[in-house]
Amino acid sequence: MPTIIDVHSHVWKFPDHFTDDFRAQASERAKADEELDLTSTHEGYEATVPDGEDYIRIVFGGKGRLSGIWVDDNYVADFVKQHPKKAIGFLAVDPTQPNWQEEMEYGHQELGMCGIKLMPMYAGFMPQDTLLDPLWSYATKHNLPVLLHTGTNFASQSPLECTLPRNVDPVAAKFPEVKIIMAHVGHPYSGDCIVTARKHRNVYADISAIHYRPFQFYNTMVLVQEYGIWDKILYGTDYPFTTIKATNDHLRSMNDMVQGTHLPRLDEDEIETMIYRDTLAILELPDPRSP
Ligand SMILES: [Zn+2]
Repeated sequence: MPTIIDVHSHVWKFPDHFTDDFRAQASERAKADEELDLTSTHEGYEATVPDGEDYIRIVFGGKGRLSGIWVDDNYVADFVKQHPKKAIGFLAVDPTQPNWQEEMEYGHQELGMCGIKLMPMYAGFMPQDTLLDPLWSYATKHNLPVLLHTGTNFASQSPLECTLPRNVDPVAAKFPEVKIIMAHVGHPYSGDCIVTARKHRNVYADISAIHYRPFQFYNTMVLVQEYGIWDKILYGTDYPFTTIKATNDHLRSMNDMVQGTHLPRLDEDEIETMIYRDTLAILELPDPRSP
């Protein structure tokens, strides 16, 4: 059985890594549960992996001072140290904050992180701002993939303009060697996301955490199919927001929605190929299981 590479999962602690305001807005708009606890643990993740499936996950925390999320990279690095065969760590920076370049170099050189996670909307910056040129140059020089949150979130202070997938277009034109992953296929701006990924050789999108909006997800994947970019779509969960089991169950039953209609069906072979895509090879990341 091939391995599932989950390109997008979080490790953090609730409530420690979030402000009261972030948690209040999350409870109000993202989940109805007042006792919302999004603490992400290894055991919690493992419990949702279906029998017979093997996985490796890319893990990160996230930093966006403006919205009230801040996970120190040491926390993520400790997690990876405890689960070295199952997790690959990405560092996170918020380039609106002082010392972000030092944090980036520390995360890479001292903590051994293999990529960078950005949250432009949560932090309030444009990825193509020349302020970030040192980041994209560093990622080019050290071959670090960069995964950005693209698409909306629930926090009222987070500017939508920072999250549009088309912001990646000028970055990819200027720094064409960096492997860039746009998270959530840019929901709901999936058209922008898909055409940006199609234009640029090293630009990809992940499908994490959009299956629970099934009609949007179906339409997004039809667009992926019509633009012919199945090969640019990477598997991800956005754990703890969703899981491998829920994601796979949904992917494998997506065509049920159009049963009895003339609407296009998604290519089920492409879905299976995507679930088991060798994202480590695409991102040139070492397999943590190899000696
Ligand atoms: Zn995420």
